[in-house]
Amino acid sequence: MKHVIAKDSPGEKVLLLGNEAIARGALESNIEIAASYPGTPASEIIDTLALIAEDFGIHVEWSTNEKVAFEVAIGGALCGKRSMASMKHIGANWIVDSLMHAVYHGFNSALLIISADDPSGHSSANEQDNRYLANMAEIPVLEPSNAQEAKDFVKIGVEISEEVRLPVMIRMVTRICHSKGVVILGNLNRISKTPKFYDDYYKDFVLNDNIVGPRAVPKMHEILHKKLEKIEEIAKRFQLFKEENGGGYYEDIGIISSSVAVSYILDYIKHRELNGKIKLLKLGLTHPFPKNIVSKFIKDLKKVLVIEEGEPFIENNLKIIAKEENPKLEILGKLTHHLPREGELNYSIIDNAISKVLNLEPEAPPREKLIFLEKVSKILTPRTLTMCAGCPHRAAYYAAKKVLRLLKKPEYIAIGDIGCYTLGMYSPLRFMQDVFGMGGSIGIANGVFQSKIGVPVIATIGDSTFYHAGIPALINATFNKANIKVMILDNFVTGMTGYQPHPGTGKTAMGLETKKVKIEEICKACGIDMIKIVDPYDQESSIEAMKEILNFPGPAVIIFRRICAQVRLRMARISGEKIVKCFIDKEKCNGCKTCIINFGCPAIGFDLKNKKAFIDVNSCVGCGVCIYVCPNNAILR
Ligand code: SF4
Ligand code: SF4
Repeated sequence: MKHVIAKDSPGEKVLLLGNEAIARGALESNIEIAASYPGTPASEIIDTLALIAEDFGIHVEWSTNEKVAFEVAIGGALCGKRSMASMKHIGANWIVDSLMHAVYHGFNSALLIISADDPSGHSSANEQDNRYLANMAEIPVLEPSNAQEAKDFVKIGVEISEEVRLPVMIRMVTRICHSKGVVILGNLNRISKTPKFYDDYYKDFVLNDNIVGPRAVPKMHEILHKKLEKIEEIAKRFQLFKEENGGGYYEDIGIISSSVAVSYILDYIKHRELNGKIKLLKLGLTHPFPKNIVSKFIKDLKKVLVIEEGEPFIENNLKIIAKEENPKLEILGKLTHHLPREGELNYSIIDNAISKVLNLEPEAPPREKLIFLEKVSKILTPRTLTMCAGCPHRAAYYAAKKVLRLLKKPEYIAIGDIGCYTLGMYSPLRFMQDVFGMGGSIGIANGVFQSKIGVPVIATIGDSTFYHAGIPALINATFNKANIKVMILDNFVTGMTGYQPHPGTGKTAMGLETKKVKIEEICKACGIDMIKIVDPYDQESSIEAMKEILNFPGPAVIIFRRICAQVRLRMARISGEKIVKCFIDKEKCNGCKTCIINFGCPAIGFDLKNKKAFIDVNSCVGCGVCIYVCPNNAILR
């Protein structure tokens, strides 16, 4: 069996990641089209579905970006196929344009958006609460609190979506996406619908004179509002609101919560033996805000503590309702600093917040844990983020920096994009001065050039990111004569999110052979006249090519092409290929540390006793770039 989610054994308990549970939910709910662009913490949804897609007749794809993924799902839903698009929180920013149109449509088949929010920004540049996005788009939001609900809510989302003919968002958060939990499998009665393009939604909007265009917009908006009015009642039918704990002791205090915070609260209640003593309202649906359910809950309370991960979304909505229902109610939460507004929640934070409200002593972290943390903090050396040993991106940046020095152009502006290559911003390379999100490097470089700054302007972008959002900005450079230099760091994979394929790899998400879309051909079609392709491990050629693009009087592209060091290692392990490592000749090494200070491969260390550098054979991947770096020819293969 390719993955446990394919098991046809209803009632069996299995251990699944939250993301795998979503994939299983998609199987159980007859999703037939699933699309995404890789983004942590959501990537495993498609990674998992792709493994079993062919066996179940599902189309699963990595799309070029989230907007396209969502539009693929829209297309599927328009043809009567249950469809879903999954993405990380910032990925959802890309779908806004299509989403704001989609909400006025009436899909006959389910259309789901799985948004994986990343509080604390573990693998993201920001914290973003996509409940606000759903609020703006006016679509329902379901918030599972564990892996079981992640699976079940997909099914519920599908049913709600089809009942009201609206896209439905399932808001995941990192700790649900990436935690394992027991999931009871449901039925796998896959049904494949015959595709049929439905355009009957227009019937809802046709005005007297048969005009569906702009004049119908207010009518379409009104229909959307009517749909939203029904959601709370529908959600009640699916038991999306639960009072988890009867209030017997703290009669006039309640807690309202959603998502992963519910699991922490239930742990707290169990641990502090508060079962049956404090009321907890768990919201499985938070938009449209369930006014009636919440009004009933707060009616006789004096105090309510709102515990939610992300922004004070429930808290702010509650304030509006309490004004009418219970104006004296004391509302505690993020806005009263009972909980932090930034970062992830955890058991200690929740322990502190609830204990404070209940006048209990918070539990101190176990003594052994404190002792351990103190010991560890003394041993560990603070480290900066760095690329892997043998990473081709390090070699590319090293060559580029060397050229800028050689050309006596120490002043330059380099804008980075998001991906593994972003790490070139940190020590010791410090190549880019600033970094932005998907495709932003090229777009912003355009503007930096137009400011007439008078120094070379460079954008650095990865292969997958180039396909995602780099192309329009490159066309802009040609069109508007922005003399920028674009370094495309092509490692044949979407590296940072888990090595997913992209249009340049020749494989689809489902492992099928497909045409490779070549970056250089795109660049040519974008009007770029100077394109160089080099292997960054070959420093001499890289330096020559970099010089040429810097001297070219117009926008130019250099593609640094070399497979990701991790993927190569994996391939070598599978094929049994023996990798020849490098080593340092102690006689020749004079301890200058150039290899560490200027290059920084993590496989190179320094022996303080002998004052010589050394290479850790376990980390070295034998790329040989450090051979070029050492001024004393002390590094050998
Ligand atoms: S650059 Fe060469 S000589 Fe200098 S520390 Fe490294 S290995 Fe030794
Ligand atoms: S050969 Fe040198 S640069 Fe490459 S991984 Fe080994 S130590 Fe690092």
